[in-house]
Amino acid sequence: MTDKNVQQALVLIKPDGLKKSLTGNILTKLSEAKLCIVGARVLHVSEELAKEHYKQLSDKPFFGELVKYIRGGIHGEPYDRVMALVYQGENAIDKLRKIAGSTNPEEADPVSIRGAYGRITTKGVYENVVHCSSDPAEAEREIKLWFTPDEIAADIYPTKKIVLDKVEQTVWEK
Ligand code: UDP
Ligand code: MG
Repeated sequence: MTDKNVQQALVLIKPDGLKKSLTGNILTKLSEAKLCIVGARVLHVSEELAKEHYKQLSDKPFFGELVKYIRGGIHGEPYDRVMALVYQGENAIDKLRKIAGSTNPEEADPVSIRGAYGRITTKGVYENVVHCSSDPAEAEREIKLWFTPDEIAADIYPTKKIVLDKVEQTVWEK
């Protein structure tokens, strides 16, 4: 029996993807990879989450603009949010990154998502429509940042049960 290299990957549809109404196009394009979506949510990105997500780039000159971009500070309401997805399947990371295209949208294959829809802002940030984890360790770190175990419809990483006392939670009024 062949060993299947099943991987997870975090994909973010960034605020420019939402503003340009590209969500459907992007999901269709990514579906070519024949992977399984095991998590999906739309959320406002806090400054803390943005900085933690991109922490390996914190010494780059574009870090401030990058944090602003992922938080929707360039695209404004109601696009100041991202769609976060978790994909699972054989060699998921390579397959998704190939469809996403190179980081620099000017260098990306024109038929990739970034090549077709990305741009470089006047401040020099690559507004490249999607994020995709680049290796399994990064994927694990990122997925654990963006999702709780309860939001993932598969057992992907070990979990444990804890009992919380007096935790405030928002629930529907009726
Ligand atoms: N980025 C940028 N300029 C650069 C490199 C990166 O604006 O020279 C932005 C771009 O939006 C990219 C993100 O920072 O998607 C994260 O960079 P990374 O090197 O991790 O590229 P990715 O994994 O997204 O291809
Ligand atoms: Mg990266």
